[in-house]
Amino acid sequence: MLDKYPRLLIDRRAIRNNTKKVVSWCDEQGIFVSGVIKGASGIEEVAKEMEAGGVKIIASSRLEQLERCKASGIRLPLMMLRVPMLSEVPRLIETCEYSLNSELVVIKKINDEVLKRGHRRHKVVLMADLGDLREGFIDAEELISIAIKIENDLNGIELAGVGTNLGCYGSIIPTKDKMKDLRILSEKVEKAIGRKLEIVSGGATSSLMGVFDKYMDGINMLRIGAAIIAGPYDEIRTVYGREEIDELECPFNLEAEIIEIKKKPSYPIGKLGVDAFGNKGKYVDRGVRNRALLAIGRADYGDISSLIPEDDKVELIGASGDHTIIDIEDCDSSYEIGDILRFKIKYSAILNLSSSENVDIFFIN
Ligand SMILES: *Cc1c(COP(=O)(O)O)cnc(C)c1O
Repeated sequence: MLDKYPRLLIDRRAIRNNTKKVVSWCDEQGIFVSGVIKGASGIEEVAKEMEAGGVKIIASSRLEQLERCKASGIRLPLMMLRVPMLSEVPRLIETCEYSLNSELVVIKKINDEVLKRGHRRHKVVLMADLGDLREGFIDAEELISIAIKIENDLNGIELAGVGTNLGCYGSIIPTKDKMKDLRILSEKVEKAIGRKLEIVSGGATSSLMGVFDKYMDGINMLRIGAAIIAGPYDEIRTVYGREEIDELECPFNLEAEIIEIKKKPSYPIGKLGVDAFGNKGKYVDRGVRNRALLAIGRADYGDISSLIPEDDKVELIGASGDHTIIDIEDCDSSYEIGDILRFKIKYSAILNLSSSENVDIFFIN
């Protein structure tokens, strides 16, 4: 059978190795890891490798992905990361042991559904907004009063802990002070309910920074996706320029096929308007260059800047929905029509490509 392109190559062993590495970094600081699968569109094999690599919980912001994991035989507890929709609460408690929460009406609904169905208790982590301004209680006293209410009045729910999310909307860095704020909040909650919490969850991949710099006192769980899935190729959401991150592998590669090769001028010919996406392009006249077209485009991967050509003499020029234009003038190898080019890819492109119906998924290792 002929191979089909474009395709996403997934190195299962690299996912497992990345997971093991992250788990061991965290373990040294007394932190356990929840493996976050949403960045790879919840592909079950990714969850399986995270499980094999030592995460204690599988987590996603999409309930559908967790339902698929459960159906495919993942045995670990599952955690819903996005604050649940009221409308999905019945499905939530069927599938997930844990969820992150910030609204009392939702928490009450979870409680009612659990009691109505005689279900096992659902574990809730209350989210504190420490300034990133996405989900969570901005008012610590409100969080504490809801913790007390859950503990005393809501028998269908177990208060599992507190958590926070940083670096998503407000691009707030998980500094030592932020981690300390969370620890102090967790101690207040523990004092108010008279027992220890199971979980104090200090954030996502960006919080690995605190693991490396050893300021995660009182934090015992991180929810890690990007570091495992994108490895070192995620400079935005990962720990900026940390050497440790380079120990990770890049488990996802993209392969795309060349459909045209021609010498062309580098500056468009005619009166300039807007491109396929309505933007004014910026073009540099470098004379006539050898150009190739790839049968893949923004509809598949999103933004061209999230591709990194394996042949570092390949230059990314631009893209429309279904085409990618590259400059191959300076390449050592002479490419031909039908040749396959390989790219490393960043988090956002992995997210897009893993859910694209035009892209085949191919497992290696
Ligand atoms: C996506 C997400 C994570 C994981 O983030 P990464 O940067 O991929 O590690 C953790 N927590 C929440 C609430 C999320 O939505």
